[in-house]
Amino acid sequence: MKILVINCGSSSLKYQLIDMEHEGVLAKGLCERIGIDGSRLTHKPTGKEKFEVEKPMKDHRVAVEMVLEALQDKDHGVIDSRDDISAIGHRVLHAGTVYSDATIVTEDVKKVIRDCFPLGPLHNPANLIGIEACEAAMPGKPNIAVFDTAFGMKMPDKAAMYAIPYEYYEKYGIRRYGFHGTSHMFVSRETIKRLGKDDAKVIVCHLGNGASISASIGGKCVDTSMGLTPLEGLIMGTRSGDVDPAVLQFICNHENISVDEMLDILNKKSGILGLSGVSSDFRDVIKAAGEGNERAKMALDAFKYRVVKYIGGYTASMNGVDAITFTAGVGENNVLLRKEICDYLGYLGVKIDDQANSEAMGQEREISTADSKVKVYVIPTNEELAIARETQALVS
Ligand code: ADP
Repeated sequence: MKILVINCGSSSLKYQLIDMEHEGVLAKGLCERIGIDGSRLTHKPTGKEKFEVEKPMKDHRVAVEMVLEALQDKDHGVIDSRDDISAIGHRVLHAGTVYSDATIVTEDVKKVIRDCFPLGPLHNPANLIGIEACEAAMPGKPNIAVFDTAFGMKMPDKAAMYAIPYEYYEKYGIRRYGFHGTSHMFVSRETIKRLGKDDAKVIVCHLGNGASISASIGGKCVDTSMGLTPLEGLIMGTRSGDVDPAVLQFICNHENISVDEMLDILNKKSGILGLSGVSSDFRDVIKAAGEGNERAKMALDAFKYRVVKYIGGYTASMNGVDAITFTAGVGENNVLLRKEICDYLGYLGVKIDDQANSEAMGQEREISTADSKVKVYVIPTNEELAIARETQALVS
């Protein structure tokens, strides 16, 4: 079975065609600048040369048609006909409180995605456009929505609810949803496979430019650090993570700025960028810290401290932890940050194998010692494969 995975942004469309027999990527690519001048498709078939097409794409429907043409191209293609595609899996940001699992797209599902525009104003409209473009290009083929909020929807109320008047939950669905859900689901399941323990207590640290952490038991989320929006939780590249909401009022009043402007600052100018004043890219901040920049050091210390605080909290709330897994840009690639985070965790009996840790760069590896009480892994995230697996499970 071949599954097309689609991730639509407002002016972009990323895709992968995955052969589920060996879970291999047949081709992947990106349409950029959809609806604006200079539209371009970059197509990378596995084992063949990549190619680019610059051609106007007035909307996502045209983009999907171009993707299908590229997939069938006589030189760069990987399938004979669009009929070779069994189903399409879509990354969709928000399903509000309605869905806690992936689902086959129907008119009702599209309505839910539409109803959630206010909760995911940047992503949900684009996700729906992508679904409708695929429906038009491949009538009758099943489209599956895989929601980024699905994993977090399994959190119990005690972890999900904000302690504010309940009517705001009832009126607007204000609660914690969590994001990076597809990544947390994939990595926690892969961790369980490696542990060989179905009811394992797992903490996944998704540390990238956006960063979040989750606790799950047997693959079911019990808590996760992002909230109503991806702003809550860990310190990130440009996002503040947790702050006292009274800070907003104080700064708005003293700087004479609006709440919207303040949220823009918390989303785009805070995090390790705001603290260090150097960059939102961890590599730049690590370099500056190495050269003696005190604020860069402080920013990295604060980042690690917050991760460690969450790991401690989640270990307490699960009454133990079997494995801690690092993933995403920083989690997969940075040997030193992983080591420094784990050095805090001696009280849990965590012991890192320095050799294994230093060799785990963007590849799967157990990095704890044989006698560590908690297993520690690096497992690269693969959201496209997770979406393809969910899609296959629903259409088989
Ligand atoms: P996102 O998907 O949220 O944009 P990624 O998971 O791609 O984020 O991670 C991007 C981050 O990973 C960047 O801040 C980058 O600096 C960091 N990163 C990548 N490689 C390394 C490395 N070797 N050491 C430290 N940070 C790294």
